[in-house]
Amino acid sequence: MEKRDERLAVVAGGAGFIGSHLVDHLIGDGMRVICIDNFQTGRFDNIRHLEHEPRFDLIDADVTDPLSGKLTRSGSTPDFVFNLACAASPPHYQADPEHTLMTSVLGTRNLLHLCETAGARFLLASTSEIYGDPEEHPQRENYWGHVNPTGPRACYDEGKRAAETLAFDFLRARRADVRVARIFNTFGPRMRADDGRVVSNVITQALAGDDITIYGSGDQTRSFCYVDDLVRGLMALMTYKGTYRGAINLGNPHEMKVRELAQRVVEMTGTRSLITFRPLPVDDPRRRRPDIALAKKVLGWEPSVSLDVGLEKTIEHFMAVAKAAVRFPLMRPSSRRRRSQSAERDVAAP
Ligand code: UDP
Repeated sequence: MEKRDERLAVVAGGAGFIGSHLVDHLIGDGMRVICIDNFQTGRFDNIRHLEHEPRFDLIDADVTDPLSGKLTRSGSTPDFVFNLACAASPPHYQADPEHTLMTSVLGTRNLLHLCETAGARFLLASTSEIYGDPEEHPQRENYWGHVNPTGPRACYDEGKRAAETLAFDFLRARRADVRVARIFNTFGPRMRADDGRVVSNVITQALAGDDITIYGSGDQTRSFCYVDDLVRGLMALMTYKGTYRGAINLGNPHEMKVRELAQRVVEMTGTRSLITFRPLPVDDPRRRRPDIALAKKVLGWEPSVSLDVGLEKTIEHFMAVAKAAVRFPLMRPSSRRRRSQSAERDVAAP
């Protein structure tokens, strides 16, 4: 029998990469979902399959604008509000830094006000970027970070740090029940081909037979979590019934060099692409790995999908995207962006 759940979840950024997987999970659990997205980096393609789903609604809006009045549908008092609204890839969030900072700060404020009025629980999708270029390794939640407040990454990093501040101020004042997830590098199907991050870049380059671009020496490290694992972690945090309220790292502790990741993709795709080296972006963190002891203890959560299995599924996704582009070469991407993005240059076919 079909699962039913009268609870309503609002997912800001629900047409994005992680957001749309979360929406699928919530609908699968039987909940009603309202997705708020401005389609800056989110895509209608990610939620097209829900177009005729009666438990799904879409509001095309920017979270920096006041939200009151937008949730007018009868019975639309949410139980859960997830805030995943923000461009998360450096080339995208740096294209309009003012908007990026405001999305985190004003967007979080607007959604917290909504939670305060509705009595809803709030989950902020924060980020490992709040640790900056970390001097402690691996990163534990009690590390305050090493962020350059004036550099090109600051609009994202400081925006998320301020969003965490606001969330915990609402919690302390008992204005809302909040949960904060610090999300580490995540990958999987529905990443944009023009996302600009290493996993999507390397796979699309390998599949096209183009040069693979490694920034710097490629010795910098990241720890990549498959999107299904991450969504399970977000759900565990939102539905957690205990009393712990600090920020919690969600990520895969399997750390590797960026060069090793590229090599693995080369092996898995059998590409003849050459690995090439480009300058390292300013303030690029040298290493990153989550300590997930807290997530294990508090939520009983840890990732279970291996890098290879995750990469296989992601490669399949990009192969399907490339195939569709060949079939419909003149079709334009469906993303309706509010602001012009420099990333528009290399927008991929849908
Ligand atoms: N990177 C790379 N080639 C690319 C894109 C990114 O070598 O085509 C590097 C980037 O400089 C960084 C790492 O890969 O050191 C991860 O970058 P990404 O943008 O995926 O995530 P973030 O820097 O936000 O962790």
